[in-house]
Amino acid sequence: MRFVLNFNHACTLKCPWCYVKFDGSIPNKQIVKNIIDRCAETGFNTLTLGGGDPYQYNWIGEILKLARTKKLFVHIDTNAIKMSETNKNIEILNNYVDLIGIPLDGSNKYIHDLSRKKEGNFDLINKKLNWLSFMKDRLKINTFAASHNINDLINLSFYIKEINPKIWSIYQYWSINNNSRVTEKYFLNDTVFGNITNVLKKDFTKSNIILDASDKDKRRKKYPIITHNGDVYIHHNKNDLLLKIGSIFLDSTIDDIIYSCQKDNFDFEFRYS
Ligand code: SF4
Repeated sequence: MRFVLNFNHACTLKCPWCYVKFDGSIPNKQIVKNIIDRCAETGFNTLTLGGGDPYQYNWIGEILKLARTKKLFVHIDTNAIKMSETNKNIEILNNYVDLIGIPLDGSNKYIHDLSRKKEGNFDLINKKLNWLSFMKDRLKINTFAASHNINDLINLSFYIKEINPKIWSIYQYWSINNNSRVTEKYFLNDTVFGNITNVLKKDFTKSNIILDASDKDKRRKKYPIITHNGDVYIHHNKNDLLLKIGSIFLDSTIDDIIYSCQKDNFDFEFRYS
C-alpha cells in the first residue's frame, strides 16, 4: 500500500489551485523519520514524498536514504526550485529514488507560467529536466489539467514525447480545500477531461511512455495523505473533502487506513514497480 507524505509547512510556489493546506509549522526531521519507520513497520511498501517541495529541507537526502533502507519504493514529487544540480543530489537520486515527479503544465512558457503563477518557471523546469537526463527511466512528468490549459494538452503531448519520461501523469483539477473563486476559474468538466485524455491514451499506446490520466474520482480513498506532523487524511468517497482520520502513530488510525484504502493501487501498480 502507498502513503503520501506531504510537507504542509510552506512552498516555494503559490499555485492558486494547490490542494495542500499550508500551516507554517516547520517539519521536524526526527518526526518525519518516525513516520517513515512507522509506515514501513505497519505494511506500507510505497512512499510518495510531496509538496510543499521536499527539497526545501537540507536533510531530505537522509529521509530518502532511510526510506530505501526500509525497503520502500521511493517516489519524490518536487517543483525542483530548491533541487540544486550537485553531485551529492545525483548520488542521492541514483541510490535512493525510484521515481521523481516534475511538474509541467503547458507546451510553452505562457501556459505553464500562467498555471504556476511564476514567470520563468517553464525555463527553470526545462533546465532541471535537462540536468535530470540521467533519471529518464525513473522520471514522471506531472501535468495539472484545468480550464486554462486543457486545449494545450495535445501540443504538450508532442513535447512530452521529446522529453521521453517513463510516465506522464495528467491530473484533472479537483476542488479540494479551494475557495469558490478558484473553483470557478479552474473547473474542468469530467466529459471534456475524459474526451481529451482518451485521445491521448490512444495515441500513447504506440509510445513507450506510460500515460496515466487521473480524473478526480480515481483518486478517492486510494491512499492516506500524511502531514509532516503525522496527521492522516483521506479523500472523501463522494464529496470534495479531505477527511482527517487521526495520527499515524495510533493503531486505530492504521486500522482505519487499511479499511478505507484497501482497494488502493489496483490500477496504479504499474507506476510503482
Ligand atoms: S508546487 Fe505543488 S505544493 Fe507547491 S504550491 Fe504548487 S501545487 Fe502546491
